[in-house]
Amino acid sequence: MTALAIDIGGTKFAVAVVHPDGTMTRRAELPVGPDPVATLASLVRDAGAAGLTGVGIGSAGPIDALAGTVSPVNIPSWRGFPLVDTVRELLADLHDLPDPHGFPVALAGDGQCMALGEWWRGGHGGHGSAPRVLLGIVVSTGVGGGLVLDGVPYLGPTGNAGHIGHIAIDPHGQRCPCGAVGCLETIASGPSMVRWALANGWTCPAAHPDAKALAADAARGVPVAQLAFQRTADALAAAILTTAALFDVDDVVIGGGVAAAGETLLAPLRQAVAKQAGLDFLHRLTVSRTTLERDAGLYGAAALVLPSEGRTPYRGP
Ligand SMILES: [Zn+2]
Repeated sequence: MTALAIDIGGTKFAVAVVHPDGTMTRRAELPVGPDPVATLASLVRDAGAAGLTGVGIGSAGPIDALAGTVSPVNIPSWRGFPLVDTVRELLADLHDLPDPHGFPVALAGDGQCMALGEWWRGGHGGHGSAPRVLLGIVVSTGVGGGLVLDGVPYLGPTGNAGHIGHIAIDPHGQRCPCGAVGCLETIASGPSMVRWALANGWTCPAAHPDAKALAADAARGVPVAQLAFQRTADALAAAILTTAALFDVDDVVIGGGVAAAGETLLAPLRQAVAKQAGLDFLHRLTVSRTTLERDAGLYGAAALVLPSEGRTPYRGP
């Protein structure tokens, strides 16, 4: 029993072969490049097919898990792209599977796979401990996420559950590119933070202002940069507590480029959660940073199709 895990990001694709005991081999990644299908084919070919029993794919959204299609915002040539069928065809071409159309290929969102991977391999549940509820959040160019409820990724009827970036934080706030008003993403994404900081007097020392430079300035004590992180922490805390009130969440794990700021984000976030939390059960929430980094998404993708030990099996959207 071996899974091929595929992580479709907006700028990079990654693959790995993952075994039920959590061993990861043949991990590789490539920039998406001008021909995303060729990039994917190259990675799949190099990973090999020995003993492969399923393929799990985590993809940047939006996705349609029922149709097996994806439309990653940063890959404009993929709109309603038939990713599941394409992967099946690649496998059939490259590895001569007896029944490529019957081969298990599961698709979920990248945030959902991150949450499931952290649950399985990141010390946030699993490993024989009691079933728990985990919220994973990816704070990056956008804000994504996923929920694991008692060991099962909750994907929703279309595969889009967990879009925490589009929880309304401020009904009087800015219009979000998604069409709604005051989404978490309009405040807490890397580009939103940088925009706000620049509009409020931040002078970036780097040639291209980005969240990394903003984090460096916040860590150095530049007040406007610290305020930008405080603002993001407040908005994230509101979204986390909203989700926790609905799902009785135990653990929150945060990944993505903005979370690479570490305690610059986590310290004000923990304080904001403690300050905003009301009901008793919300006060037991723990918030930590991913320990698996990008591998969380690969582990989660693999877990979609691997037999489970101590995990409730995934049953599809
Ligand atoms: Zn939105």
